[in-house]
Amino acid sequence: MAEKYDLVVIGSGMGGLSSAALAVKKGYKTLVLESLGQVGGRYSTFEVEGCKCLTGACVIHYSGWVPKVFKEVGLKMELRDAQEVFYNVEGEEFPVPLENRVTALFDICNRAAGASGKAKNIGAGLVKEVGSKKLSGMFGKAVMDPKGLGGLTIKEWLMQYTDDPVAHGLFDSLSVGWVVAHSYEIPASEYFQFMATMKGMNDIGLSPQGNKYNMEMLAGYVKNGKSDIWLGSPVTKINIKNKQATSVVCKKEGGEEVEIECNAVISNCGPTLTAQLADQVDYSEEYLRDMRVKLRPIPTVMMHVASNEKLAMAGGEHGMELVSGMRRIMCAVPLTNSCPELAPKDTFLYHFVGMPKSTLVPMDPEEEIRQCMADLHDLYPNFDNVAKVVSIEARNCDDNLNYGRSWQAAPYQMPRETPIKNLWCVGDGNQSRGYVGTSGCAEGAFKAVDALKKTVKPS
Ligand SMILES: Cc1cc2nc3c(=O)[nH]c(=O)nc-3n(C[C@H](O)[C@H](O)[C@H](O)COP(=O)(O)OP(=O)(O)OC[C@H]3O[C@@H](n4cnc5c(N)ncnc54)[C@H](O)[C@@H]3O)c2cc1C
Repeated sequence: MAEKYDLVVIGSGMGGLSSAALAVKKGYKTLVLESLGQVGGRYSTFEVEGCKCLTGACVIHYSGWVPKVFKEVGLKMELRDAQEVFYNVEGEEFPVPLENRVTALFDICNRAAGASGKAKNIGAGLVKEVGSKKLSGMFGKAVMDPKGLGGLTIKEWLMQYTDDPVAHGLFDSLSVGWVVAHSYEIPASEYFQFMATMKGMNDIGLSPQGNKYNMEMLAGYVKNGKSDIWLGSPVTKINIKNKQATSVVCKKEGGEEVEIECNAVISNCGPTLTAQLADQVDYSEEYLRDMRVKLRPIPTVMMHVASNEKLAMAGGEHGMELVSGMRRIMCAVPLTNSCPELAPKDTFLYHFVGMPKSTLVPMDPEEEIRQCMADLHDLYPNFDNVAKVVSIEARNCDDNLNYGRSWQAAPYQMPRETPIKNLWCVGDGNQSRGYVGTSGCAEGAFKAVDALKKTVKPS
């Protein structure tokens, strides 16, 4: 048996490491156990041929909860502005203004009508069919009264007004971008409820040294003193006695199993794995059923492309592009437009995200990669002469670091509290209503540590 800790945190993703840092600040002797060889989970970096590639999250919201965690423990995140957004409609780029980005969708359809090429006719078609005033009005009504939409999906809701494929493509990109579900999968009421709560998040930044740099800064704070982080140490069991977590078992390098006694556990490995680690002892049928029904883990393809010529957002703008009308690619981020430090000199580094047609079932990874590659070649006909793929990962539903443990709308999340009194879950799949991504994970960390304070005193 190793020495005893007040708190064991399972996993060093945004939720876990934020919880650990906040607990250390409050005086809790904390041990973080991380199965991988580095911290950060889906907000970290790995290096290929001098390119700093993302393990997941790309941008951080300045006004969100992640910078608040750093501030709370006296640190400052290193971030650089990346606020511009473009819609890419079948290869043609349309800038989105900083204000009212969602309703700006309709402006873009208008502007597309005045532009040349394929998008011209499609954009004009939407506005002509529906009328821009009516488009904005119906959108506003849906945001104000999401419940009035009944059981329609977003696609069905939009079908009432238009069957224009580009309008549907843009709404699908927005739906995937906001709630990580396709427009034909998620109820429109959930989507608009989400829009009403979130109100827009335009203040975003990229980490110029790579995400790992920021997470290692936070890890440094945790390790400074009586607390510690063990990398390469997967937790294999949470021991429960009298409905309380009493210790965890982890596997150290070389296969040795170590038991660590503790007064509380915050788990960042997701509600499903957490329940399995606890052998579902004292877990109610209701909780287990909720977990099966609510959680919607999302498969995705993540790619990094290095190029000696600018591809997406070739004007050098700092931000990202939502892509519509392709087979799989939904999002392109020109990382080096804002942060040239992320790649060797004269190399442009891009992050692409591809989504299978269904987020509800496991994907066929090889087929999805083929489809994404076909998209890259369609988007950039000169691709083979100027660019190459430096990393490509098809993360399936059951992958530890898949896109997300659930769609990012309230009914698809589990509570942070578990049926075990001193065991909480933080991170994706356990976010509060209206919070998403890394910000939702960090917000959950504040809440979990507040709950910890009410239950367990620091030693
Ligand atoms: C392609 C993509 C793009 C995204 N873009 C954005 C974005 O731009 N902005 C944004 O805010 N969010 C974005 N997200 C979402 C964001 O990445 C996640 O919300 C967030 O990083 C998840 O953090 P988490 O706290 O759930 O922990 P995770 O990142 O899931 O980390 C969990 C950690 O637990 C460890 N672990 C698992 N099992 C065990 C075990 N048994 N023992 C010990 N350790 C274990 C894992 O190794 C991992 O390190 C994106 C995600 C993806 C995949």
